[in-house]
Amino acid sequence: MHNKTISIIIPVFNEEQVIPELIKHLFSIARSASYTFEYIFINDGSIDKTLEILRNIKDKRLKIIDFSRNFGHQIAITAGIDYAVGDALIIIDADLQDPPETILEMIKKWEDGYDVVYGVRKKRGGEGWFKLITAKLFYRFNKRLSNIDIPVDVGDFRLLSRPVVDEVKKMREKNRFVRGMVSWVGFRQCAVYYERSSRFAGGSKYPFRKMVAFAFDGIFSFSVAPLQLVTFLGFLVSIFSFGLGIYFFYLKLFTQKAIHGWSSTVIPIVFLGGVQLLSIGVLGQYIGRIYDEVRNRPLYIVRKFYSNDDE
Ligand code: UDP
Ligand code: MG
Repeated sequence: MHNKTISIIIPVFNEEQVIPELIKHLFSIARSASYTFEYIFINDGSIDKTLEILRNIKDKRLKIIDFSRNFGHQIAITAGIDYAVGDALIIIDADLQDPPETILEMIKKWEDGYDVVYGVRKKRGGEGWFKLITAKLFYRFNKRLSNIDIPVDVGDFRLLSRPVVDEVKKMREKNRFVRGMVSWVGFRQCAVYYERSSRFAGGSKYPFRKMVAFAFDGIFSFSVAPLQLVTFLGFLVSIFSFGLGIYFFYLKLFTQKAIHGWSSTVIPIVFLGGVQLLSIGVLGQYIGRIYDEVRNRPLYIVRKFYSNDDE
């Protein structure tokens, strides 16, 4: 019998339909493995019966972090990481899109000496073409921009060893892109492959708005490339307008071609206006993040922590 503990971290937001099935899978995995398990559910401000269902599962291994409101997926994961006591932590979605059976494979790799075992999505089932394309583009774009090695087509479904967890816990940044933070930490990392199936029940809790915010965190929290890009763009536009100035000067002095057109006035104005707004927007992204940091609010608020132990 091992006496190692594995903590399973599950963020849940209105997942009443999937929890019983998920629990079935998780418990059956626990029976086939000789570890002590701990299940940490983070109730991320659900407005359905999620909390009630969780509270009714009378099992000592269950712990529930009940947030005071919806703080978002990445923050929920963070809370799980903060509370977990295991020698290894596994982050998994509640909707069975990440097959729980892969957990055993991850643990095996961990026993082989890896500190981070991340799940790579070989195939994604049950998701629309829009999500597939934007996800593909995002992962590749983000890899290009950031100066750390974030693997592509990898979600938050992964195992973290205790040394990695202890490092990640020191990173209290407010705009969190957890998988990037884990890559940044380093240690020995490896992949396991799985097929991402469609949701067991219910709809995605990631509407377009949340996807965009998430993508922005991935890019702006891990790279200053946009700043460099904007600087470069400004440089290019300056050179171009300088050339244009010389050209107009030449027309005026050496030719008879008078310029009546408004286009030569309006186009540069519109173009420059666009470039300037874009640049200010990029600056705003970083300033907003600095603002979030200096206010230094807590990352999340726990209404109540339930551990079935104390009943
Ligand atoms: N989730 C959460 N808070 C949120 C949104 C999602 O805790 O604000 C949880 C959700 O319950 C699920 C996981 O994060 O366990 C992944 O969400 P979802 O399956 O909706 O995302 P998708 O697979 O569509 O990208
Ligand atoms: Mg999902």
